[in-house]
Amino acid sequence: MTEPGLDLVIAALERIREKSDRTPRASRTALAQLQAGPVAAALLEAYTSSAGQQLQAARNKADLLAAVRDRVGVCTKCAHLACSRTQTVFGVGHPDADLMFIGEAPGADEDQQGEPFVGRAGQLLTRILKAMNFAREDVYIANILKCRPDMPAGSFGNRPPTPTEMQTCRPYLLEQIDIIQPSVLVALGAVAVEGLLGTRATMRELRGRWHTYNSIPLMITYHPAYLLRNQAPSEKRKVWEDMLQVMERLKRPISEQQRNYFL
Ligand code: SF4
Repeated sequence: MTEPGLDLVIAALERIREKSDRTPRASRTALAQLQAGPVAAALLEAYTSSAGQQLQAARNKADLLAAVRDRVGVCTKCAHLACSRTQTVFGVGHPDADLMFIGEAPGADEDQQGEPFVGRAGQLLTRILKAMNFAREDVYIANILKCRPDMPAGSFGNRPPTPTEMQTCRPYLLEQIDIIQPSVLVALGAVAVEGLLGTRATMRELRGRWHTYNSIPLMITYHPAYLLRNQAPSEKRKVWEDMLQVMERLKRPISEQQRNYFL
């Protein structure tokens, strides 16, 4: 293969990786042709060994997360929640995600299904991710609290977690962050911020600018449930501007159309 040909291969592989965060695939014939040239073979080996290391890292993280999930599954530190929950809601997504979202606590839908952000607010989060060119499987989503806050018998809806409940459950979330080591964290709503940072402030004061948690850049934005209650385009635009900052930080490509959503 000629050197310009090699440059084309390198550029194509990099484009695939940047666009999808997945390992590019090649047919057996293409691999045989690549391996025929010594420079190309070295390039291919370097590329596949780095992809292999990424895969191994993801497997290790998945194992570590599974161990925490097992402990959470039988946790009874908040006796009242352990009694009332259907199941714990640990978290979902890629164990080696660059981007991690943190919400407050499971609601009724999440308690039933065992997965965070599956109700109406969760469906909106999935649409926001799609607008950012992410699939749910590409990111990691977890809550401060792993059990649904209990409600008085016969009452409907959800309640926010108490400071004590959040403090009790917080170490599990910190373990998840420690294992995943995302490049960017996003906290959804003031309760999530209080649970993560112990800071009480209004969203007006918190959102739209970078904070840090343990040296990891942290963006704070409204909880999707807020957008379900306040459907004004100006509020949607605020959240979208926060997500544009996240995409920029992650060096994701942003189209002109994406920049102009909700304007
Ligand atoms: S909320 Fe967290 S700390 Fe409390 S019982 Fe559930 S898993 Fe355990």
